[in-house]
Amino acid sequence: MFAAVAIVLGCVSLMFEPLATAQRGGNAAAGPPVKVTVNGREWTQQQLFQRNIGGQDDQTTQFPPHKIIGNMYYVGTVSLASFLIVTPQGNILINSTYERNIPVIQKSIEQLGFKFSDTKILLGSHAHGDHQEGDALVKQLTGAQVMAMAEDVPLLQAMKPGGKEHPIDKVLHDGDKVTLGGTTLVAHLTGGHTPGCTTWTTTAQEGGRSYNVMIGCSLRPPAMLTPALIDTFSASFKTVRALPCDVQLGDHGAQYNMQEKFAKLKDGGGNPFIDPASCKLEADIQEAMFRALLAEQQQAARP
Ligand SMILES: [Zn+2]
Repeated sequence: MFAAVAIVLGCVSLMFEPLATAQRGGNAAAGPPVKVTVNGREWTQQQLFQRNIGGQDDQTTQFPPHKIIGNMYYVGTVSLASFLIVTPQGNILINSTYERNIPVIQKSIEQLGFKFSDTKILLGSHAHGDHQEGDALVKQLTGAQVMAMAEDVPLLQAMKPGGKEHPIDKVLHDGDKVTLGGTTLVAHLTGGHTPGCTTWTTTAQEGGRSYNVMIGCSLRPPAMLTPALIDTFSASFKTVRALPCDVQLGDHGAQYNMQEKFAKLKDGGGNPFIDPASCKLEADIQEAMFRALLAEQQQAARP
């Protein structure tokens, strides 16, 4: 069962099995998995993982493409987020997801009335297959420039679906800006889940106002925390909490309750994606899990 899951799910294949071991302190006979309660809801690591990826079909099934705010649109699947930013000089795509999802993303872009071939820049959240495996195919089909955070470049270069080299046209560093047609995105290094996990911020205009948009990168920690990872995650939680945010998005829709917010679009009230109060919730959940795992690890290490 675990082996099958690990093969199918690129994002977690590196950490799913280690998780099972570490939660038991390396001892199969040890206690139950670590649990945290945040905002009245209890989570285990495995439940957070399942929340993110949903059922197996959710990773490849189109979610209704929709406008989020201003020039930002959702073009991903039910559980794997992909965002389109439309500008007068072409479009920016964030997260190609799995290569087999490219036709789904293309269809979503076209259903919104845009052209896939107008994709000029391709960005990503982090170098796991469920978010960036399709980069080479997107570049092949659109000619988009692929830009990636330096710390994720080695993992991306190892990602070769069908033997295709992973394209990287520009290497980015923390704080770098990507601008196209009047829209600027800032790349924030929020490593841990992968070394170059990138949180993107930008602004979007709606109703004569400007809103801060934060596209979060996964903050889900592995069960085994090395001293270097402890430092990296601690810095990333601090970084994310300091970013301006009115609209919080993520690399899985579940990180920002996409389905619930999408359902509210039908109500015709205010834009449900503008929700500053929920901006820190995902960081709260993941940091609580991080602290709990760390505490367990430290306790297990005591003689
Ligand atoms: Zn991942």
